[in-house]
Amino acid sequence: MNETNLIYDAIIVGGGPAGLSAALVLGRCRRKVLLLNAGKSRNARTRATYGFLTRDGIKPAEFISVARDQLNRHTTVELLDAEAADAKCDGNRFEVTLDNGEHFKSRSLLLATGVVDEIPAIEGLDRFTAAAFITAHTATDMKSATSRLPSMDAERMVKVWHWR
Ligand SMILES: Cc1cc2nc3c(=O)[nH]c(=O)nc-3n(C[C@H](O)[C@H](O)[C@H](O)COP(=O)(O)OP(=O)(O)OC[C@H]3O[C@@H](n4cnc5c(N)ncnc54)[C@H](O)[C@@H]3O)c2cc1C
Repeated sequence: MNETNLIYDAIIVGGGPAGLSAALVLGRCRRKVLLLNAGKSRNARTRATYGFLTRDGIKPAEFISVARDQLNRHTTVELLDAEAADAKCDGNRFEVTLDNGEHFKSRSLLLATGVVDEIPAIEGLDRFTAAAFITAHTATDMKSATSRLPSMDAERMVKVWHWR
């Protein structure tokens, strides 16, 4: 249990690119930060991340690992691999509770929890969703199989066509 009276400047919930970026900037400002991460990044199932300047084609896990290494230089930033189960605001203090009951207090709370994709329940489709968007570079010579997708995905397929 966290029995200290420590009050962080910020608690960040989510340790994907958004949460890690926030932690880096706050760390550089010598803010006392606690970053909580459940470790289920949206793009974890992809082989590589593209289009991020200087890191084109990097593995998602490597991207996160480099970011966490660089954060370790900032002694005011703590990384904790844990899931936040609850948060409340009491006046000018936030209190975040983990799923094991442990709790932490802060002056500010930053939610960087990302989004969760809902894949249509079509057998085998999940194997083809390892890329949220396919750029022309990757899609050259690919064939599109659109006719078996439900109408709710029409908008997404228009986007795919647009990028080819
Ligand atoms: C298949 C796929 C391919 C992609 N390819 C690319 C690409 O090539 N190039 C590119 O730039 N972008 C790509 N993206 C988009 C990229 O993944 C997202 O833009 C990026 O992950 C968003 O970062 P984020 O930090 O907001 O969220 P996430 O990366 O999803 O991170 C959120 C984190 O918060 C954690 N979390 C959530 N709730 C809690 C909680 N209660 N307590 C503690 N932690 C919590 C999660 O476990 C997760 O680790 C792709 C996405 C997908 C799905």
